Amino acid sequence: MFKLIQNSYSKIESLDRQLKNTLAELEYNQRELEKLAYVDYLTGLATRRLLDEKYVLLFESAKRSNGVLTLLMMDLDYFKKYNDRYGHLEGDRVLKVVGGLLKEVFKRDGDVVSRYGGEEFVVVLYQTSLEDTLSLIKEFRRRLGLCSLEHRDSPFGEITLSVGINSGQPSVEENSEDFLRRADRALYRAKEGGRNRNSL
Ligand code: GH3
Ligand code: MG
Ligand code: MG
Repeated sequence: MFKLIQNSYSKIESLDRQLKNTLAELEYNQRELEKLAYVDYLTGLATRRLLDEKYVLLFESAKRSNGVLTLLMMDLDYFKKYNDRYGHLEGDRVLKVVGGLLKEVFKRDGDVVSRYGGEEFVVVLYQTSLEDTLSLIKEFRRRLGLCSLEHRDSPFGEITLSVGINSGQPSVEENSEDFLRRADRALYRAKEGGRNRNSL
């Protein structure tokens, strides 16, 4: 009888251990999935999904409090040509360098730096004047220049990027998509204007 109880007890103990292990595994998998959804695997920046979530909150907050919101939409210049000449792996290396520099420069609490798409990055700044924004972009370009990432098939001879800026207080009738679209249009103007520049 005693033996029977002892056996049952150790079975329960072993099941309990298994259950705890499975739960720990599930929690680990859950965290990994969240990381995949929110952290870009190549650059370590926020993914577009995380940006979307944070951006909407910042936009609503700016609207409520008449705050200034700034969106920077950045796109590498002639990057297809870069991949064609130097290969996709070198291209990935450039994306990592650019992502790292963005993180270094736009590092204020609350700044959101994200990899928006393949070679596009979006930065959201809260309560930052246009003057400060422009000097941050200047500093970023300075650091990028110091990296001297050769790009023979670009008229600039090195890796550059174009930046579309939308900065201001969102108007009453404007939604977050309209605000983003304005940064996108500004980026288009920067490209049309010859690339390697900012446009408002
Ligand atoms: P533009 O100056 O007009 O921006 O020209 P572009 O060639 O940079 O623009 P386009 O949008 O035509 O091409 C983007 C290229 O970016 C296409 C693709 O080769 C490259 N790209 C996108 N995602 C990745 C990535 O994850 N890794 C690498 N290496 N290249 C990528
Ligand atoms: Mg692009
Ligand atoms: Mg491009």
